[in-house]
Amino acid sequence: MWKKQLTVLTVGDPRLRLMAEPVVTLDRPLQTLIKNLIWTAEKTNGVGIAAPQVGVAKQLFIVASRPTLRYPHAPTMAPTPMINPHIVAHSDDRTADWEGCLSVPDQRGQVARWREIEVEYGDRHGQMKRQVFTDFVARIFQHELDHLQGTVFTDRVADPTTLLTEQAYFDQLDSMPAIVTDHSDSLA
Ligand SMILES: [Zn+2]
Repeated sequence: MWKKQLTVLTVGDPRLRLMAEPVVTLDRPLQTLIKNLIWTAEKTNGVGIAAPQVGVAKQLFIVASRPTLRYPHAPTMAPTPMINPHIVAHSDDRTADWEGCLSVPDQRGQVARWREIEVEYGDRHGQMKRQVFTDFVARIFQHELDHLQGTVFTDRVADPTTLLTEQAYFDQLDSMPAIVTDHSDSLA
């Protein structure tokens, strides 16, 4: 089967603001969508992509952490489709770190996320999975989960002065302040 690079919607498109519906059937179109999402993430140097980003309001995303031009320090894992995903439990502490998004071109900003999460999701064969993710992979999961609820990372940037263009981000990458850990439990 051919792999197709899908068009990623950018902010301003109302489809990015919809609540995604649960996936109920693992049919052939869904398998094709999974394959094309994985391919699209690869071609765009994304470490994750959610179905609503390509205009499909379904609870499905791909987590595909690996070092890329956009995220040179990312850990490597096989691209993993996650269907009807949710967070079961999370650590008390949150970590603020840099995020960007294929749907928010040319911007980076600091977002606080749970440092460790326990999650559940269905795999592409309908098998339920329960896993613990920490740090960068936990961050990707939370970022993609937001897309299923019509939220983008800039909605969660607590300090708008942290917003940067990608060029400014890369220029500063080596001189960035250390990651800030926030032990307050007040935001979700
Ligand atoms: Zn995104």
